Amino acid sequence: MDTNGPIKPPETPSPTELILQQKKDALQGLPQVGGDGGDGILAQLSSNPFFTAGFGLAGLGAAATFAQRGFKRSADLIRRRMLVDVEINIKDDSYPWFLQWMTVYQQSQLNGRAPSVAAAAAAAAAASSEKIGWMERLLRKFTPGMRQLSIQTQKVEHANGAIQTQFTLIPGPGKHILRYKNAFVFVNRVRESSSRDMQSGRPWETVTLTTLYSHRHIFEEMFSEAHAVAAKSHEGKTRIYNSWGAEWSQFGHPRRKRPLTSVILDEGVKERIVEDVRDFLDSGKWYYDRGIPYRRGYLLHGPPGSGKSSFIQALAGELDYDIAILNLSERGLTDDRLNHLLTIIPNRTLVLLEDVDAAFSNRRTQTEEDGYRGANVTFSGLLNALDGVASAEERIIFLTTNHADRLDEALVRPGRVDMTVRLGEASRYQVAALWDRFYSEFDANGVYKDRFLDRLAGLGLIEDRDGHKADVAKTVSTAALQGLFLYNKGDMERAIKSADSLAQSIYH
Ligand code: ADP
Repeated sequence: MDTNGPIKPPETPSPTELILQQKKDALQGLPQVGGDGGDGILAQLSSNPFFTAGFGLAGLGAAATFAQRGFKRSADLIRRRMLVDVEINIKDDSYPWFLQWMTVYQQSQLNGRAPSVAAAAAAAAAASSEKIGWMERLLRKFTPGMRQLSIQTQKVEHANGAIQTQFTLIPGPGKHILRYKNAFVFVNRVRESSSRDMQSGRPWETVTLTTLYSHRHIFEEMFSEAHAVAAKSHEGKTRIYNSWGAEWSQFGHPRRKRPLTSVILDEGVKERIVEDVRDFLDSGKWYYDRGIPYRRGYLLHGPPGSGKSSFIQALAGELDYDIAILNLSERGLTDDRLNHLLTIIPNRTLVLLEDVDAAFSNRRTQTEEDGYRGANVTFSGLLNALDGVASAEERIIFLTTNHADRLDEALVRPGRVDMTVRLGEASRYQVAALWDRFYSEFDANGVYKDRFLDRLAGLGLIEDRDGHKADVAKTVSTAALQGLFLYNKGDMERAIKSADSLAQSIYH
């Protein structure tokens, strides 16, 4: 300090400066009071290593945030310019196809074998050691969870009708990478924990596929392949749909097609219906040209066990159609629900409305009725629903009933029911044909068959050789006959002897 100069009064520090100073003193362990003889506050701050370090850090943080934002923005830009996304949601038909296909595809890429639990587990383990390029390795490094798998349980029906449960691993929720024809595809399966599909109750899910814009054409090929795989797995099968709330949902596993030859109706009946349906399917233009809704209704009536459902199932197989089944006596099936369901029938699907008499016995309108009975389909509701069935696709509806006497003629009107067929009790012709299906290889000359037929005629169940029926009240159903032949499989003598038991299964 200059002792010769005029003595300056010490500058009074501001309260902030005092605090800072005190902090500095305290930190440096040099207790000082008063000014520092001319050093400004900036100097004090800049000489404070903690302060400057903090300032530096803040600066770095800001720069990092800025850089991050910039990076994100350019990543978004690149993404928008260079990448293309395809989103599939769980409600879309291609959703299960795609996951199934992806499993098969990845399996074939890894080890060329069909997927199974063991194979998929081995594949997942092998995936870490397999030979992969640097690009794929890099991508895999940054896509955690790509080997997450989910289990899918399926019931498989064998040729002998036995059902076996099979487990397949499909890509689980998370991120996966797929290499498809030189393109890398990011697959992100996301399961929402908060939202659910209102109708099925399943958690909402989406799969997003992302690839380079220049590779966008691969999606088309990929989905065609996925569709082909799905179609192949259903080849020779008939899917059965049931109503689930307000929509159709596949019931169980697709069933093996039932051959038309396995259903034995009276002479010419089957051929007549099949011909009519085929003719209808070939007449689309005729309907469109005349502005007539492209639909056709069939009413099959007759006693239970006469093969109504079996025939419709076999017909669906023959036409390569699926079946949507709805029982009109089902509780809680309201007019509105029926109407809605008939407007959302899956493509290439026959509709089977069982027990239509349920609607006949409930002619009252729902609005005027009390609770429980009112929750069933009404007659007018059924008519409205049938009249409302209009679609770009053809619609084939089969109605069945065991009680022909309750039918109303308002139902049998073109557009509602175009053809009415009675599938009745077994005729001599049907018994003979059924016999052949079970015993033809043991009974080449038909000797046993004639004995069996004569026995049934003697019991009054079928016509005799001259076409006379002894007792019109006595009948036997084809279902009961099938049961008898099954029970006496390969034993014709026993089948003939036990014919008496059929007389008890009379339908009134
Ligand atoms: P419905 O629908 O008329 O009540 P189903 O088609 O359900 O009769 O037949 C019940 C069982 O009887 C099925 O196992 C079916 O195979 C057999 N069955 C009934 N009628 C016939 C038939 N006409 N030809 C072949 N099998 C039949």
